[in-house]
Parts: sequence; C-alpha cells; structure tokens
Amino acid sequence: MRTKRNQKKCHGTKNHSCKEPESNPWTTHAAHYRKILQKMQKLATTHKLIINPDNERVQKVLGLMTENMVSSGKLFCPCKQSHPLNPAKDVICPCPAWKKEIAKDGHCFCRLFFERQNN
Ligand code: SF4
Repeated sequence: MRTKRNQKKCHGTKNHSCKEPESNPWTTHAAHYRKILQKMQKLATTHKLIINPDNERVQKVLGLMTENMVSSGKLFCPCKQSHPLNPAKDVICPCPAWKKEIAKDGHCFCRLFFERQNN
C-alpha cells in the first residue's frame, strides 16, 4: 500500500483538533469516499457480510480505493494492486477471491469485508 497522504499536522493550539471527525487522511475526495463506502455497505448487506468495525482500517482501504477510482475510473483493490496500477492485471473490488478468503479467514484479504458472527 502507499503511504499516508494529506495528513494535517497538529500544532497544539487551544481550539485545534488534529483530525476532523469525518476527515480521512488517505484521500482528499470526500464525496467519492462516501459514495464508495455506501456502495460497499450495500454490497456487504446483500452478501450477508459486515464491513470491518475498525473505522481506521476502513478509511485506509476505501480511502486508497477512492484514490484509485479517481485516477482510473475503477475500484481497484489497494491491497492487491501493482505500483503503478496495472489495469490488465489488477483486481477490482469485490475481487474474485473474496468469498473464498472470507470462508477461510473470516475476512477478505484487505480486511474490509467480514463474515457475520452468529449471536
Ligand atoms: S480483498 Fe477485499 S477489499 Fe480487496 S478487492 Fe477483495 S473484497 Fe475488495
């Protein structure tokens, strides 16, 4: 994966917080990010899965996926991609292996989609 980008530095002033609650250090495209998050939440529901409850992980995976979407027009998986992107080889989310990975490990390779716990 690429390194964190656009992370604002906190200078510790009285009324300053390091991160806005809705900010994502992995992408500057907030509107695209929200749409992609909604799409993935819908996809998870349709397939009786859940999105990782760890919001930092979701922000990273979907933030980088958002960057891929903006640059290429497709939802290339940031955990399995080439650097630079190789559209002929890289996989689009959900990738062909996701169900197999979830059945084996309880989550996909990126740890974006998880199986539901029976309780
Ligand atoms: S590993 Fe997860 S996030 Fe990556 S493409 Fe597959 S399903 Fe999507």
